[in-house]
Amino acid sequence: MKVLKFGGSSVAKPERIKGIVEILKKYVKAGEAFTVVFSAFGGVTDSLIDVAKKAENSDVNYLVEFEKLKARHIESAKLLTSGENLKTLLKYIDQNNDDLLNVLKGIYLIREVSARTLDYVVSFGERFSNKIVAHTLVENGIKAEYLDARYVIKTDRNFGSARVDFEETELLIAEYYAHHSDAIQIVTGFIGSVSKSGKNNDFGLTTTLGRGGSDYTAAILAAGLNASVIEIWTDVDGVLTADPRKVKKAFTIPTMTYAEAMEMSHFGAKVIYPPTLVPALKKKIPLYIKNTFNPDFVGTYISTERNETEHAIQGISSIGNISLLTLSGSGLFGVPGIAGRLFSALAHDAVNIILITQGSSESSISFAVQPTDTKRAKHAVEKAFANEMKNNAVNALFIEENLATIAIVGEAMRFRPGIAGTLFDALGKNGINCVAIAQGSSELNISVIVPRTDETKALNALHEAFFLSDTLTLNVFLVGVGLIGSELLKQMAQQAHFLKTERAIELKLVGVANSRHSVFDINGIDFTQNIKTVLSEGEATSPEKFIKKMIETNASNAVFIDCTASADVAQHYNEVLAQSISIVTPNKIANTGNLAQYKILRNTARKTGVKFLYETNVGAGLPVINTLKDLLNSGDRIIKIEGVLSGSLSFIFNNFDSTKKFSDVVKKAGELGFTEPDPRLDLNGSDVRRKLLILARECGFG
Ligand code: ADP
Ligand code: ASP
Ligand code: MG
Repeated sequence: MKVLKFGGSSVAKPERIKGIVEILKKYVKAGEAFTVVFSAFGGVTDSLIDVAKKAENSDVNYLVEFEKLKARHIESAKLLTSGENLKTLLKYIDQNNDDLLNVLKGIYLIREVSARTLDYVVSFGERFSNKIVAHTLVENGIKAEYLDARYVIKTDRNFGSARVDFEETELLIAEYYAHHSDAIQIVTGFIGSVSKSGKNNDFGLTTTLGRGGSDYTAAILAAGLNASVIEIWTDVDGVLTADPRKVKKAFTIPTMTYAEAMEMSHFGAKVIYPPTLVPALKKKIPLYIKNTFNPDFVGTYISTERNETEHAIQGISSIGNISLLTLSGSGLFGVPGIAGRLFSALAHDAVNIILITQGSSESSISFAVQPTDTKRAKHAVEKAFANEMKNNAVNALFIEENLATIAIVGEAMRFRPGIAGTLFDALGKNGINCVAIAQGSSELNISVIVPRTDETKALNALHEAFFLSDTLTLNVFLVGVGLIGSELLKQMAQQAHFLKTERAIELKLVGVANSRHSVFDINGIDFTQNIKTVLSEGEATSPEKFIKKMIETNASNAVFIDCTASADVAQHYNEVLAQSISIVTPNKIANTGNLAQYKILRNTARKTGVKFLYETNVGAGLPVINTLKDLLNSGDRIIKIEGVLSGSLSFIFNNFDSTKKFSDVVKKAGELGFTEPDPRLDLNGSDVRRKLLILARECGFG
């Protein structure tokens, strides 16, 4: 027996259900024994919660929302079934919508929705979807039967996130299936009902297993049926190395252990609801995560087997919003039982702790919680340590909000040195500050806490460091698309393939601007097209605005290329370098301002570990500056530098004779790209002076 589960994303639209019918037909044809769990149609659970909350808040629009939901289910039924099937369905939908509406009216009147009532309200989502799917299958010649999971899944009365009574549930499942063995059971995910062992008058009340709980339903059924496999069908190609919404380059993890899948899902990978893995592991039932939209793809296989992979870790996940609470004070040092008291107090007030860290100095203990738990945690701790706080032995709880947890996960990390090094190196290079760090002694997971605004950047930087170390993506921001800027874009387009295949560097143009307009696209702007046309439709910009937006984009491995000759741009270099963004520029202004500024730029670049490159400041395309640096680094002393320091003057004097007008020769030099945008800077010697100054400074004569 197999248990299949299709998520809300797989049944968001009626056409998609037709696709699932095709998948199931294949199973029937192959003679497989299976049962199927469906979630509510995509978005329906959220809408039901919203309707109930609106009714609670006396917002009459709850009726409008209710009608929309009703219409959605009726429309699906009409699209997928006909004749008797449709008739039965419409009757079911009608009757149940009457029940739902009555409950909503009740909520509206008493202006309160309890967790218990909310569970009943949301249960309609799974009931409607499974009833519709069951009839659709019958309509397509598959012998299928609807099963309301409340008959077989028994829980405690912890509404909203009920715990399953496995003993009773497994018995009921076995019994039910023994009597309904020939039709395929189509089972409502997510919902259960209060077991007999609860208070008598609670027996049978509707409960839910927590958001995303249909995955869990599949595993509970699998345990009860001693199934051979659980298949979770969703809208992505399995468990990916990172959340594909945040890391575009994420790819499928072919095999994982239960422990790895558990860590990934606990730390934010929504693709599996974490409790799902518990009954699966207990009964050693392997799981497949498969894509409804790409059914032939193998997806991810989760079992006890550990396969060696080429990567040091399996995946990276994150929880986008957490708070970090720190208990500190002299009274903690060397006193046994502090941690026990702290965590008992939190457990007593039902605060779920995501992560804990304590330095060996024992002067503080930090723990992370969901923002919704922050207040409760604070009260619990203040109550537990009231005496110590009064005596100043323990400080007031320190609370940091708007943080994110990033976790790298994988069993192969164990006994493998250097993983933490790679982690912190990647974060450091991208200027991401770690607020706290935790590693379980199982070495299955290293978690770091970073500012929430750095979450996506950290995920991408780590993904790059651990999985794609063979290709480095440079996120390029370019200002100035005059002669030099457009030539650079041309060369980038020409060299992109070579750089990728031969040098493992991928160039991505994320932002580009001329003096008037800018365009940004985190997914990359096609730099083979005519950039001037692209820019003509861009947003109005200025150097300040462009740089601000570039910093806000917070891209990893970012490079700012300044192809202007503008002081307005150059004055921002230090700010850019301080944000861990490298700079590449032919613009000489920053290097020829006052000496203190020249030194500050180098210092900032050194501190943040990014590059500040300006090879073309002197000698155009010739490798002068780097050669000079190499010579100096290896102990050579520069005695003399000889050269023609102005390409423009050289051209002009070689071509100017009595047959030509001086202005024409200057113009020609400009057209050929030899002069500064303003050729007077060449003619009055400023440009040569600047080059000499840069050479002198590079040689250490500052
Ligand atoms: P379903 O409706 O099928 O239960 P969910 O929305 O609950 O689907 O879970 C699938 C989603 O999980 C994917 O669309 C993806 O956006 C998100 N997700 C987050 N992290 C990961 C990951 N590491 N691998 C795959 N998907 C992930
Ligand atoms: N429909 C429920 C939810 O949205 C359960 C699930 O999708 O797994 O949370
Ligand atoms: Mg889900």
